[in-house]
Amino acid sequence: MHMTTAEIREAFLEYFRKEGHEVVPSSSLVPHNDPTLLFTNAGMNQFKDCFLGAEQRSYVRATSAQRCVRAGGKHNDLENVGFTARHHTFFEMLGNFSFGDYFKHDAIRYAWTFLTEVLQLPKEKLCVTVYQSDDEAYDIWAKEIGVAPENIIRIGDKPGKPAYTSDNFWQMGDTGPCGPCTEIFYDHGEGIWGGRPGTPEEDGDRFIEIWNIVFMQFNRHADGTMEPLPKPSVDTGMGIERVAAIMQGGHSNYDIDVFQRLIKAAAEVTGATDLDNKSLRVVADHIRSCAYLIVDGVMPSNEGRGYVLRRIIRRAIRHGRKLGATDTFFYKLVGELADVMGSAAVELKQQQAMVEKVLKIEEENFARTLDRGIALLTDALDSLAGKELDGETVFKLYDTFGFPADLTNDVARERGFTIDEAGFEAAMEAQRQRAREAGQFSADYSKVLTIEGSTIFTGYDRDQDSAVIQ
Ligand code: ATP
Ligand code: MG
Ligand code: MG
Ligand code: MG
Repeated sequence: MHMTTAEIREAFLEYFRKEGHEVVPSSSLVPHNDPTLLFTNAGMNQFKDCFLGAEQRSYVRATSAQRCVRAGGKHNDLENVGFTARHHTFFEMLGNFSFGDYFKHDAIRYAWTFLTEVLQLPKEKLCVTVYQSDDEAYDIWAKEIGVAPENIIRIGDKPGKPAYTSDNFWQMGDTGPCGPCTEIFYDHGEGIWGGRPGTPEEDGDRFIEIWNIVFMQFNRHADGTMEPLPKPSVDTGMGIERVAAIMQGGHSNYDIDVFQRLIKAAAEVTGATDLDNKSLRVVADHIRSCAYLIVDGVMPSNEGRGYVLRRIIRRAIRHGRKLGATDTFFYKLVGELADVMGSAAVELKQQQAMVEKVLKIEEENFARTLDRGIALLTDALDSLAGKELDGETVFKLYDTFGFPADLTNDVARERGFTIDEAGFEAAMEAQRQRAREAGQFSADYSKVLTIEGSTIFTGYDRDQDSAVIQ
């Protein structure tokens, strides 16, 4: 059976709605209830207080298609983009949640029914993991669902490490709700590098994790003891792009409808001809995170969330140059993005002009130093004796040319080099020290522009011209 990404989203929400779940809209990428979290990175974020019992809602079961960004903080997949078939900076997580209502039996049955009956995935392609000591989940899979024992893999703790380092044990923080997970994997078949979960080759792209089901079963206290929760809960997450890859007969997420259209659009605006070029995937990935972050109120800046956004934009622009773009191109993808994201693009459509403007200005600004920075970096790499680029050069690229360190690293990595991150940090610290001694604040030429009543732009790097939109 073939399904579009939009059809999968609809089918998922509809399946869980029929099973008594409230369909809850995606929340913002900027978490409103958790200052410790850089960006929303899972469907459960917006329900955190429901799980903690601090918030009561009119429902005890919910389902959502949550926009997520994993480009910093605890989950950072930025470096994976373009290298694996399955990681994005921005993706949609489909999830179902039980707030002290159903638990393991129903959660596992729902997931299995959705995959094998609604999506009609062949059972023999699926395998599951459970946490080492979670006999209850093991027995549900083996006896109630009928998964063959060789396809149920117990995953333990990492050697010498505490439980939460296991892929199959989840916790909200050092204290609070925690518990075992069960994950469902799809085997994309021989010929693709990778091994079953729990083997040394598991990080390959053959067995791809599609769904994680977390059982919030315990409350961990500060002294490390774990007390069973009186009303255990369920939190699940399934990446829509990974499922779409399967439902559309492909392997890589970049083969799916949404990405193919973005990749074609990116090829058009950059002049690239080889649609398999890795940089096209990077650009197609990055336009999604950048556009949605701006929609959710993040603006390019030199710190915090804004700097993560700036870093992603600059990376995309660098890849665009590599593809042959000679002029600003990135903002031109916003329209296509708004078209392909369907019901997930309501806010993006409303704010399209603003998003384009922010991206365009950011690109024009970076374009002034990009070529000279690339020339300097190329020379430095050409004349490198060893394999590591020194921290001073990385710092100079940052300070004078506006190259975030991860961008420099991205270029270096393409040529088999690494960068001296510690040396870069030391150079940064030395600069901060100089600034402190000179009694300055770290200069900030931020300006705020108001267009049609909404604040849309805060200015530029201290190292760039203090360009301001007029
Ligand atoms: P992986 O091990 O593949 O990195 P994960 O264990 O980090 O995934 P979870 O935190 O369990 O992922 O998130 C739930 C689901 O969200 C995953 O099973 C996967 O389908 C999807 N997902 C996670 N990270 C990404 C990403 N960077 N891009 C696309 N989908 C993702
Ligand atoms: Mg991960
Ligand atoms: Mg995983
Ligand atoms: Mg997981």
